[in-house]
Order: sequence, then structure tokens, then C-alpha cells
Amino acid sequence: MSMAVRDIRFADLQMLRYTVGGFARLEPRQKLLVYYLAQASLWGRDILWDQNCRLGLALRSMLEAVYDAHRHGKLTCQDDNEWEAFVTYLRCVWFANGVHHHYAMDKMRPGFSEQFLRDALHSIGYEVDEELMHLVFDPDFMPKRVNLADGEDLLETSSMNYYAPGISQAEAEAFYGKMKTDDPRPPMYGLNSRLERDGEGSLVERVWRSGGMYGPYIDKIVSWLQKASEVCDSPGQREVILTLIDFYKTGDLRTFDRYCILWVQQTDSEVDFTNGFTEVYGDPLGLKASWEGYVNIVDHEATRRAQTLSDWAQWFEDHSPVDPRFKKTECRGVSARVVEAAMLGGDLYPSSAIGINLPNSNWVRQEYGSKSVTIGNLTRAYDEAARGSGFYEEFVLPEALPMVNAPLAAQLDDLHTDLHECLGHGSGQLLPGTDPDALGAYGSAIEEARADLFALYYIADQKLVELGLLPDQDAYRSQYYTYMMNGALTQLVRIEEGRQIEEAHMRNRALIARWALAHTQAMKLVKRDGKTYLEISDYDALRTVVGQLLAEIQRIKSEGDQAAARRLVEDYGVEVDETLHHEMLQRYRALDLAPYKGFINPCYSLVCDKEGKPVDVEIVYGESYDEQMMRYGREYSL
Ligand code: ZN
Repeated sequence: MSMAVRDIRFADLQMLRYTVGGFARLEPRQKLLVYYLAQASLWGRDILWDQNCRLGLALRSMLEAVYDAHRHGKLTCQDDNEWEAFVTYLRCVWFANGVHHHYAMDKMRPGFSEQFLRDALHSIGYEVDEELMHLVFDPDFMPKRVNLADGEDLLETSSMNYYAPGISQAEAEAFYGKMKTDDPRPPMYGLNSRLERDGEGSLVERVWRSGGMYGPYIDKIVSWLQKASEVCDSPGQREVILTLIDFYKTGDLRTFDRYCILWVQQTDSEVDFTNGFTEVYGDPLGLKASWEGYVNIVDHEATRRAQTLSDWAQWFEDHSPVDPRFKKTECRGVSARVVEAAMLGGDLYPSSAIGINLPNSNWVRQEYGSKSVTIGNLTRAYDEAARGSGFYEEFVLPEALPMVNAPLAAQLDDLHTDLHECLGHGSGQLLPGTDPDALGAYGSAIEEARADLFALYYIADQKLVELGLLPDQDAYRSQYYTYMMNGALTQLVRIEEGRQIEEAHMRNRALIARWALAHTQAMKLVKRDGKTYLEISDYDALRTVVGQLLAEIQRIKSEGDQAAARRLVEDYGVEVDETLHHEMLQRYRALDLAPYKGFINPCYSLVCDKEGKPVDVEIVYGESYDEQMMRYGREYSL
């Protein structure tokens, strides 16, 4: 593969490339399957941009017009600094799929002047839209994409686009509250729609589907899925794709559940995918899902490792420190695969999860299990970027450094992800009658904490040594150290000074580490030469505390105890100690590393025979970040 184009660094971001080693192994038909599914993964991009902010697509067009004019020599800039700041801003907007930081959710600030942009637009004859100027330059206009601050109207204070302006949180909650019945198999109400007001002022849902909202985009996705359905790995996979097409055509959420059930049972194909309205982190009320799509190829070797865990799922469930009432008596269908990403799209691009566990419907999971993947080639790309960066040398206590730097440590990260995805999310059960959404805005952080705690508890278990997944009983220690260090200290480098912790996964890690600090002497923060470090003196005792918190979090989830969820998250997962935060940022800045990373996709191109019929697919890696973003804007936008 070509590494001619250097992976770029800008603002707080670094772009990485992932390689798809398994692609070469596929037969031509399967390569075509990857190609068609990849196209279907890219066509939902604009839907996501529109979901993130109602002005997102207009903003992108405006910024790209300036960038394009400059590249073609139609725009000359007097001031190189302004131009450089403009390009950085555009790259950040591309990265975030909108004007708000992908992680912090705050609006990003431009480093160039308003005059600069006005002049540039004027010189290329692009009509200035004053609302877009506000969006870029007025910090008080749409300041936050998703606000989760306790006590505020979460819809009024969030500028995501899942609810029409003027709809209050109370109205939306009442609207969806009425849909709740005692149906044991409820669809995920609200998942694929925007809540709006009709002419009479009543609330109505507008649905993303063929002939509905973003219908022409959905039709594009459908047409590529159609092609994919003709080159499937199995009749079962074909049925999965056809059911998804049916869902896109009707927008019917019960069809979506049917698709999820078929999809979760489809575990033997070499090439797999997700495509659709999936995760709800972008909605402050946790109902509406952002569009995402990705394609993957199974990694057989690494899958054996994850499968071993899966095979023992019931054993892990039975032996967890959780109250027996909250345990599944029959743990089924937790399938586990390690895959290589072949294409990332929508909300998984360019910033991606490294492990995915779906579907999200509680009753489908309960009755059919879930499908869990760890994306090995993304983890590998992260790993390679981190090695030798000096990060651990700065933040890890010197006596713990050899342990953390041992070759085994990277493997432990993978094992933690496997445990989190294959066992953690799939473990436990709700008490009969508990509303799956009872934890409200705290649900995501609590669910992630539950999966992480399950992983932390078991990574220290003798069982993993017995199963041949770890060499000895002490091997897990480096994972405890780096996990707790991250939760208590180093993840703070991803937050801007003066801000609190907002994102669900970050809240979960802070919650776990700081709850543990408050509840055991086995771990504490120490000062050396004016620097703060984490010290763990008794790993066994720390594991006991991990088990205690796991039991409590599972209770909260099983009983739907929102008051307790709120207390835990607010007490341990949100606030940031200003002095500590400042210190972390300073030490981190001195290393000159990017706290966030994203991925540049490979390019695929069709090889056709003399009649123009596609017969094979080539993969190419050389595209630069800017080229890729500009191309996606041209080729996957209507
Ligand atoms: Zn998770």
C-alpha cells in the first residue's frame, strides 16, 4: 500500500489510515459485495449532517465553495494566516460533521475574521447568508449540539436537529410518554423521525424514508443495497438486506425490529455491515438515532479469542458479583467477532468506535441476543500512533511504566474491548415492568459503566488464565492502571479548560475511577515533583471495589432507579477539578499530541469486463483527507 500522503494533524485532531488486510483474501464476488455496501454506507452522510444541525449542509457548501475556488486559483488571499485558519476550521467542521465539536459538543471557534470570509465569498460571487455568518461567528448562537446539563430544557439548549425549534423537552417527553404501552416488544419509538409541528400546532413525526424526509438519499442507499443483495454470502444475508430495504421504503419501526432480529442471527458471513439509524447519543432525550453505516470483513484469527469469551457467557453471568435477581438465567446469542473495517460512513466517519454491539432494542437483545464486534484494524492504527509518543512516559508513575509498556498491554486493551462488547453489554436483565428508558439522560453513561465494570471485573479473573487468554494472574494489572489513570486524570486532556464532562463514555470512565478513589485506599492520587499521578497499591482490593460498583450499577439499571443514576453520574462523572484539569492540559500540551483521532477511508474502484459488467474491485489507499472530504461532498450529495 502507498503511504505517500502523510497523515495530517490539525487543531486537536490527527487523521490515521487503516488498512484492510483481509480484502485481498476475498473472492471477486465478495469484493463486489464490499463495494456495494460501501456505497450504501457513504450515501447517508448528508442525513447525518442535517441531523447534527439544521444549518450544517448549507455551512459546508459555503466553506467548500471557498476552498474549491482557492484550489482552482479563482481566489487569492492576501493573508496566509487567515487562509490557514480557514482551512483548519473547514477540516474541523468536516471532522465533526458539523459546526460543533464531535466530542465536546460545543461550537468550534474560527481562527479567521468575519471580514476575511465575507471578502472571500464576495470575490467568488457567493451570496452571503447572514444566518450562516451568525453560526460561524456568534458564540451565543447554537452554542451546543447536545446539552445534558441537569435542570435545563435539554431541547431548547441543544441545537441538534431532531426536534423542530420551539418544541420543549416537556412536550416531547409527553408526546413519547403517551406511546408507551405494556407491549412487551415495543418498537424504538421516535428512532427514525424528526418531531415537528403541523399547521394546527400539534406535534407530528416526519420520517426518514423513501418518499419521506431525505427520500432521494434513502433511495440511493436502497439502490446500492439492492445490488449488494445480488452478490450476498448466503440466502440469509440476502434476506437481511431485503428486510432493511423494506424498512427504508416504509420507515416502519416494527420492520426495523424484524431486520435487527435477522441481522443479529446472521453470524457466519465473511462480509457484514450496519446501515441505518443506530445510536442515540446525538439526541439529548436519547430517542432519535443518528445515521451510520459501515462495512467489515471478519478477522478469523482474532475472532477465535472473542468467541472463547462468548462460549463462556453463561459462566461469566453466573459468577458476577451482581444480585441474582438481576442476572440472566439464560445468556444466549452473544456472538463475538473481530473484524476489519472496510468502510466507515455517517456517524462512524471519520471518528469511529472501535467496538460495536448491536442491536439497541432491549427486547430484541433479551430474546435474540446481540452481535458484537471489535474492529481490529482501527485499534491497530490507534496503537501504532500511540507507541513512542511519550504519553505514558509523562503520565504513568515511573515504577509502573515497565508494566504499562510491556508488549502484553496492547493485547489487554483488545481483551477489555472484547469483554465490554461481548459480555458486558449483553449481561444482566431488567426487573419485570422496568421501563428500559427509565434512566433518561443518564442511561447512556450508566450503560457504558456497566459494560466497562463487567470487563474490568473479569479481566482480573483466574478464568481468563484458564481459558488461555492471559498468561498469568497478574497480567491484568496494566489494564487497571491505564484505565483508572485515564478515568481519573488523563481523559481530562480531551476537555477544554472551564468545561465539564459531557460525553457518555467519558462520564462513565470518570465515574468508575473517581468512585473507586472515594471508596478504597488501594488506589490514590499522589504528587511527585509537583505532578499528579495515580498510584495503585493493592490491585486485589481495587478489584473488589470494581465488583461492588458493578453490583450497584446493575441494580440501578435493573430497577430503573433514576434518582440513584443521577446521583452517581452527577457526583462522580461530571465535574472537573480546575487545578487538576489545568495541570493535565499543560503536561499534555508539552507533548504536542492530538487528543482525538479519526480515519481516512480507503478508496474502492470497480473493475469491469468488456461489456461493462463489474467483475472485480480494487482498493487504493492514497487519498488525502482534504481530497476525500471534497470528493464525498461532490459524489454523495444531491
Ligand atoms: Zn459500550
